[in-house]
Amino acid sequence: MATVAKPTAPTRQIGTPPMVPRIAPREDLNPFRIAQIQFDMAAEFLKLDLGLRQILRTPKRVLEVSIPTKMDNGQVKVLTGYRVQHNVARGPAKGGVRFHPNLTLDEMKALAAGMTWKTATVNVPFGGAQGGVICDSKRMSKGELERITRRYASEILPLIGPYLDIPAPDVYTDAQTMAWMMDTYAMTVGHAAHGSVTGKPSSVGGSNGREEAMARGLVAVVEEACKLKKIALRGATVAIQGFGHSGATVAQVFAEKKAKIIALSDTRGGVTNSRGIDPIKAIRYKERSGTVVGMPGATRTTNDELLTMKCDILVPAALENVITLNNAEAIKARIVAEAANGPTTPHADEILARKGITVLPDILANAGGVTVSYFEWVQNQQGLIWDAEEVNARLQKTIVRAFHEMVETMRKHHVPPRAGAMILAVGRVAEATLVRGLFP
Ligand code: GLU
Repeated sequence: MATVAKPTAPTRQIGTPPMVPRIAPREDLNPFRIAQIQFDMAAEFLKLDLGLRQILRTPKRVLEVSIPTKMDNGQVKVLTGYRVQHNVARGPAKGGVRFHPNLTLDEMKALAAGMTWKTATVNVPFGGAQGGVICDSKRMSKGELERITRRYASEILPLIGPYLDIPAPDVYTDAQTMAWMMDTYAMTVGHAAHGSVTGKPSSVGGSNGREEAMARGLVAVVEEACKLKKIALRGATVAIQGFGHSGATVAQVFAEKKAKIIALSDTRGGVTNSRGIDPIKAIRYKERSGTVVGMPGATRTTNDELLTMKCDILVPAALENVITLNNAEAIKARIVAEAANGPTTPHADEILARKGITVLPDILANAGGVTVSYFEWVQNQQGLIWDAEEVNARLQKTIVRAFHEMVETMRKHHVPPRAGAMILAVGRVAEATLVRGLFP
């Protein structure tokens, strides 16, 4: 084997000026390349055959559509949208629809792959998909959003359906968006089709418990991790980066468990109070002012400061790449629970592992959402309505089982949680692919 020369330690003579601090090498933040790095690592542990690796690391289908939309001022704007289906070996494709001005195709591919591993981690019989539209939904009227959503749904119609690919809410989309998508689908096919999307309003087949499902799943996973790390959740301090629907429901569920929310943030900045912030008050304040910044009884802070704050549990609940080479060394939380998809880069992951920080990975920590999406789809397909207690009990059972399966895999391979979950998930999809065989 070729030997690699060890870098020589820089020497500094007495009397010479201090060395210029080394600038951290720029990290590759392309979400799809990051997803592939995470996949390759799991494939290596599983010693997967090269052909199988190529099947699993490539999206099955990618559709780009243009969405001509009449804006309120009478002008037509042509937006771009995507739907990516990463893998359907274990069941119909499943995943969110995101509206965001900076959205890219590589991000869609990464999120679609993430959904494949997420549904496999919690063992629900779905594959993985993701879609989105490049648009600044915050600056659009309800009418504009409805027209964009309906035209987008109609453009991706050949790919979606209860047995093909089932969309759900994601960043800046919600139950209303899903109602419009379902209606567009149902009007086109000519019959009711409740199982064509999940995360719908309950009046049109949405499941009880779906709105808080991600948060309940996340807190259940944190609770299990706390038991292993011997941290009491009651009184534990929690900092949440991102106070949209995800961050706000996570805050409420942590508060139910008597954990103490010490910091919150949104795109405009953050607030902190070491004695605790009442999430309900923060939600009400944000409804009125559009941000948590300035809420009474809390001091102003920034997103950057929040991430490196001393706390027991840090919850990134917004977008990708917020914990990177730039700030990983400064993170002081004991547990990072990923409510967002892809908030931690592979380099940051390594640093956090070295520091003994437990990173509960997105594909398990936020899988409560898709788990209850699966329950919603099951109820729709069978014409059933389960009450919230039943949904929550099933969610708890599914997520806690997945957590322990992840821990078992971590122990077997001596790896941190993300690698454990990935090995578990990739192993399941690989097995399904092999047993089905290659068509034709
Ligand atoms: N967008 C959510 C996620 O990333 C939900 C997906 C779903 O329920 O299909 O998990």
